[in-house]
Amino acid sequence: MADTKAGKKKRILSGMRPTGRIHLGNYEGALKNWVKLQDEFDSFHMVADWHALTNNPDAAHIHADTLDMVIDWMAAGLDPKKCTMFIQSHVREHAELHLLLSMATPLGWLERCPTFKELYRDDDERKGLSYGMLGYPVLQAADILIYKAHFVPVGEDQVPHLEITREVCRRFNKLYGKVFPEPQAKLTETPRILGADRRKMSKSLGNHIVMSDSPDAIRKKVLTMITDPKRPRKNDPGHPDECNVFTFHQLYNKNRDRIPEIEKGCRAGDWACYDCKQELATALVEWLEPFREKREALAADPDFVKDVLRQGNLAARRAAQAVMTEVREKTTLGSLIADD
Ligand code: ATP
Ligand code: MG
Repeated sequence: MADTKAGKKKRILSGMRPTGRIHLGNYEGALKNWVKLQDEFDSFHMVADWHALTNNPDAAHIHADTLDMVIDWMAAGLDPKKCTMFIQSHVREHAELHLLLSMATPLGWLERCPTFKELYRDDDERKGLSYGMLGYPVLQAADILIYKAHFVPVGEDQVPHLEITREVCRRFNKLYGKVFPEPQAKLTETPRILGADRRKMSKSLGNHIVMSDSPDAIRKKVLTMITDPKRPRKNDPGHPDECNVFTFHQLYNKNRDRIPEIEKGCRAGDWACYDCKQELATALVEWLEPFREKREALAADPDFVKDVLRQGNLAARRAAQAVMTEVREKTTLGSLIADD
């Protein structure tokens, strides 16, 4: 848990959906920042299991995916002594605040949300879209506001959602008096990592490189990566600044001398994409080695992982309950008759 000086630190909240093992995009856009910020901030990190149900109400995978994801977080450097890791559905106050916020959220804000608009457009018969999917950003607002978070370290794709949180926050504060600070996004220098097909790397698009994949699986995935679209033939001059493989070299190739060499060879058209990918695969496997080792040790001790979450759930509940008491007072709900 965060140390006793936590009260003086500014707070951050961020989460991920337990929908599969984490990939390089999750790491570069969010997790890397969580690890970096855990000394400086009072950090809360949430397994967003209710959010995982918005586009797939089947919950059978959630327990296994929750443990896998938290193991990934710790293998990447999140330290349970420095931050609070917890499961959203174990802090039911999120649902209560979500309900109150939903009354203060105009429908138009949600209908304009890019994720919803895209899904709405593709679902002519309105069969696959749930009420929960429309309200997703309101639940997200509750997740953040209930901890009075100042910052939200997320990838670029989440910025429009956070904008809704900020609007909901302003609306609530105006209606009932100031309760919540207005949270701000915190992005990394790599807020949008592209997948093998050059679209945003995403679990749901199947274009992702999973951090815990075997060296063999990583090699295979790297070889499928689309390179410079403006270089149709092997000996054409390349454009490294437009090539995802080159971006990955800059991030993961420990042999820093190779970066300018690769760039030069690519521009001259005498360094082949295939060789470039082979070298990247080797570099990436090496870069991921310490992560894989730590992950294996953690996976061998699921009781430890469950204990981290048990403690985290308690700490998160305490923090959320205190804020909900204040919210009930401000909204003048719940003070007429004392509960037994
Ligand atoms: P899904 O396809 O199920 O939505 P996802 O791969 O987008 O999964 P999320 O759990 O939605 O992953 O996102 C977790 C965090 O990782 C969020 O902060 C999100 O902004 C960030 N993130 C996800 N993909 C990327 C990416 N390609 N580049 C940078 N950040 C990313
Ligand atoms: Mg996503």
